[in-house]
Amino acid sequence: MTVRLYDTQTKSLVELPPAPAQVGMYVCGPTVYQRAHIGNAVPFVIFAWLRNWLRERGYDVTYVHNITDVNDKIYEAAPGASAERAREATAWYIEDTASFGLEMPDAQPLATETIPEIVELIEELVSAGHAYESGGDVYFRVASFESYGALSGQRPDQVEEQEPSALKEDPRDFALWKATKEGEDTSWASPWGQGRPGWHIECSAMAEKTLGPEFLIHGGGLDLVFPHHENERAQSQAVGRPFAKIWMHNGLLRFVGEKMSKSVGNIATIQEVIAEWGAETALLFLMTGHWRKPLEFSQEAMTAASVQVESLRNALRGETRAVGDWDALASALDEDFNTPAALALLHRWAREGALDELRRGLAIFGLGELGDTVEAPAEVIALAQARVEARLARDFAASDSLRDEIVRAGWEVRDIPAGFELVPLS
Ligand SMILES: [Zn+2]
Repeated sequence: MTVRLYDTQTKSLVELPPAPAQVGMYVCGPTVYQRAHIGNAVPFVIFAWLRNWLRERGYDVTYVHNITDVNDKIYEAAPGASAERAREATAWYIEDTASFGLEMPDAQPLATETIPEIVELIEELVSAGHAYESGGDVYFRVASFESYGALSGQRPDQVEEQEPSALKEDPRDFALWKATKEGEDTSWASPWGQGRPGWHIECSAMAEKTLGPEFLIHGGGLDLVFPHHENERAQSQAVGRPFAKIWMHNGLLRFVGEKMSKSVGNIATIQEVIAEWGAETALLFLMTGHWRKPLEFSQEAMTAASVQVESLRNALRGETRAVGDWDALASALDEDFNTPAALALLHRWAREGALDELRRGLAIFGLGELGDTVEAPAEVIALAQARVEARLARDFAASDSLRDEIVRAGWEVRDIPAGFELVPLS
């Protein structure tokens, strides 16, 4: 058994050390200032699945998923009230991601809880000559770190100026610490005066605090390779930390053909998607794409995913008639975590009736309870069938009153492509 995962820096599949090795996995979470959109869920879900799979393979995994609760975007979104907004949006994010029903990360560090470690790391960079104070800010000296650009493939002389400032020695330099500006409601004391950390140094410090100076996997969305991860790597390695061995960047969710960006309005939040489609359909939809590739989020794709969920659910209600080839699933997931190949195999097991392996395989992806639905009593099923007929006859008054009757009997009726589904009301 060999597990291999694709690494952005070497552009190759890297072999993991043999189990039961320790696998530290640090994944960049969102900056919290509003309800998270479904695109934010992609790294959360993919790395939760990868954790499940590596544990299945005998690894000792620690999954850290940080939350950025100090950042320019939060000050902009809630002027004068950023701390309160960040607290509220952190609670939303935890609630929304928990609604997938996956086991939560082992640690979810916050930048605001890591300020002493951040300040210490900046002090170390300043004394080593890799950073300098200027006007109450502290900047990383890019010219002092020879391999800058090695992760993203950007040559240092081609790296564009990130934020023009007269305070910088070199336009490529980036802020580690920013002096407090008017209108910012949070600040911390530091050797350089009142201020707050830059985004990149927060992650270098949070990763080291939770996983130590060296860990196996660093994950995040493909949009984070430059400058965020290039800068994290520079900050940590400049002062001798080996930092991450494998950099995994997931493909982004595309919404009507475009990258889902928070600047686009009316996009689906995690909360909206789960309310409309259910966690199981959302999870199955994410399985349909390879983690490194972009994935198109659309009404059609979600409908197709819900049909697949129903077909698996139906199969689980049947009898076990066969034994699935578990090694085939293992090969698909060991080789760069190929979830579409795994999903195809799960469907095959559903058709063949290899239900033990099907249940075990679905559990890796948070779908282990798919077949555990409680059968509704015959009279409730009859009401639901009568409701389908009323709807077909466009008698919506009758359909609504049947729905009410079903609710009074303690059940919720949901319309699905295959007809209806009855869920007990808790
Ligand atoms: Zn980060």
